Amino acid sequence: MILVVGGAGYIGSHLVKELVEQKAVIVLDNLSTGREDSIDNRVRFVKGDLGDILTLDQLFSEYPIEAVMHFAANSLVGESVQDPYKYYNNNVSNTLTLLNAMLKHGVKNFIFSSTAATYGIPETDLITEETSTNPINPYGRSKLMIEQILEDFHQAYGINYIVLRYFNAAGAHVSGEIGESHEPETHLIPIVLENLLGQRENISVFGTDYDTHDGTCIRDYIHVTDLANAHILSLNALLEKKMQTATYNLGNGKGYSVKEIIDTCEKVTGIKANAVITDRRPGDPATLVASSERIYHDLGWKTEYELEDIIDSAWKWHKRILEDSSN
Ligand code: UDP
Repeated sequence: MILVVGGAGYIGSHLVKELVEQKAVIVLDNLSTGREDSIDNRVRFVKGDLGDILTLDQLFSEYPIEAVMHFAANSLVGESVQDPYKYYNNNVSNTLTLLNAMLKHGVKNFIFSSTAATYGIPETDLITEETSTNPINPYGRSKLMIEQILEDFHQAYGINYIVLRYFNAAGAHVSGEIGESHEPETHLIPIVLENLLGQRENISVFGTDYDTHDGTCIRDYIHVTDLANAHILSLNALLEKKMQTATYNLGNGKGYSVKEIIDTCEKVTGIKANAVITDRRPGDPATLVASSERIYHDLGWKTEYELEDIIDSAWKWHKRILEDSSN
């Protein structure tokens, strides 16, 4: 049985949808940002906090858990700057509680959701796992701290882990049943689609004076189901003892600028966007693009979805939730 902490969230729920095809799954989620209706009905769901020692003790005592996959973090850069306690408390302290509970109950396999934000402002355009980590905000630092704790826990206690550093997760499940919706929404693709659906007056383009081909920031957008598949390969590599520890970037290896994203959304939907240029958003590096060569080499992972697929699946999901809310 696999414990998925944060399995009601955007990325966690997509992982669960794939994982239930192979394994018995139990989801622990406090529903602070996740949606109960996104949890697959084949899993056992426990509403609770990853920092709650009693709940964790109960779960590990009651179920034969082989591995833990951890998605339950706060992940907004701006919020982490405003409220670092929230980030260090949930992302670091509560994760430590979870790791300690695993150790107490002899569970030694851990998959950790990390982030491109651990790299900070990299000196190179194509980021490999060897690129130095120098996070520039509490969110990135909180994730890097856990990565470092995992290294120490592997040495001292024999925890085996795979760290997955996500670039820009985007898109929705092909079924249209689950997708990305945050409250408030801060991510570019959902914001553009909300504008196209008339739910938002305009899109702010945060700066057009970056050192990129059109002056807007370049990011590496990756379909959430591609991310989910990388988790399953990683989990199996740990369970089959092919790997003890690893750190992998997960991206498409291709960068798109903010302007290119807006153009592609217009192309896929046939609707004109209303974009306005505003100041830069603090803390945004000009370009973040991943090399995912290492996970391809070790586990054979590669992406299946292109940008158009990402936007098309997200568009279906956004139209669906709008229709549901107006019924
Ligand atoms: N962005 C933008 N307007 C928005 C939201 C985002 O111009 O309303 C830009 C942002 O500056 C970044 C890119 O879009 O360069 C992706 O931002 P997002 O918040 O989606 O992801 P991040 O890269 O911060 O994880």
